[in-house]
Amino acid sequence: MHDLDLSFILNELGEEREHYYNAIAPPISQTSNFAFKSVADFRAGLANEYDAWLYSRGNNPTVNILRKKLAALDGAEDALVFGSGIAAIAVPLLALLKQGDHVVSVAKPYSWTIKLFEKLLPKFGITTTFVDGTKIENFEAAVQSNTRLIYLESPNTFTYELQDLAAVAALAKRRSLLTMIDNSYCSPLYQQPYKMGIDLVAQSATKFIGGHSDVVAGVVTGSKEVIKKIFDAEFLNIGGNIAPMNAWLLIRGLRTLHLRMERVCDSTKKVVDYLAAHPKIEKVIFPFHPSFPQYELAKRQMKNAGGLFSAVLKVDTVEEVERFCNSLKHFFLAVSWGGHESLVIPSAVSIQAKDFDRLNSIHRLVRFYVGLEDPDYLIADLAQALEK
Ligand SMILES: *Cc1c(COP(=O)(O)O)cnc(C)c1O
Repeated sequence: MHDLDLSFILNELGEEREHYYNAIAPPISQTSNFAFKSVADFRAGLANEYDAWLYSRGNNPTVNILRKKLAALDGAEDALVFGSGIAAIAVPLLALLKQGDHVVSVAKPYSWTIKLFEKLLPKFGITTTFVDGTKIENFEAAVQSNTRLIYLESPNTFTYELQDLAAVAALAKRRSLLTMIDNSYCSPLYQQPYKMGIDLVAQSATKFIGGHSDVVAGVVTGSKEVIKKIFDAEFLNIGGNIAPMNAWLLIRGLRTLHLRMERVCDSTKKVVDYLAAHPKIEKVIFPFHPSFPQYELAKRQMKNAGGLFSAVLKVDTVEEVERFCNSLKHFFLAVSWGGHESLVIPSAVSIQAKDFDRLNSIHRLVRFYVGLEDPDYLIADLAQALEK
């Protein structure tokens, strides 16, 4: 995307300021319903809610400013915004799949996406095969006669395996399959899957788009045809829409998206380089580090990387992992990411202490998120915690 386009999208696109006293910040249209001038207009609105101001479960003026910006950022035709990232994944899948359909999904997507494939979709007779997505042959081999969709997440947010997006899109076109990706890690600024031939691009807007750890939201973008199909049925029927106030906060988040991401990426590189050279770190896992197995693909398909990375500690016990994390003063022990604050999650938090196996490097893995703090402030904190 050209920088001029980005400036236009973040500052002007979708904002009809002449309709609201030329206010720079858009109003929060805190309304559930909209009045019609005549029965004929009312009838037309009911017949095609996609193009009508009828009810805020469907269209809302504040939300629609956000939709226009998010669609344009992906180079797509339209967007739907949801009350969470997982709704932006679940609702399109429920809309596009039917009983008897099969999905080929990359292994290890986001935790609630796994539950969607393993627990919720099987209730409707939809099955999923998980494949190691680092090799395109694995997708090809898993496609069955009833396969309808290939699901991707590149990179994931724990160990960062990538899929070759152009190759998967080409395979899907050859076999007439739909493709969908969770693009949360890169955001539209650093990876544009729709332009690479992926049909639907979902993102947790809770992360980089919101950027201030104060909103839970999600977005999916695609062609007008597919987005309208989702809007007309499952979007309205499941009702996972975002509140106008939260949409407004996301519009505000977008104003500084490029600046925040640049800062986060620059700081992440410094923190990763520091840890990669530290004697108590076995290895770092970060797509833009030369030691990353898919470094070449990452450089080819992503414009930049940052925020999330992981490190494997050289330790023998779970107590040492815990002591390191508990000693950090400026990294909060918390889920989520993409905000102003740096965070840490040891993978040992999801196992019982007695099950810790030092030979399993995943048990010694710690996931970091680097926020907007001064990188030297964060590095000094890591240094004192590693000493302990
Ligand atoms: C957080 C996250 C989600 C889910 O988004 P919510 O906004 O929490 O519902 C999905 N995918 C990835 C990669 C995430 O990090």
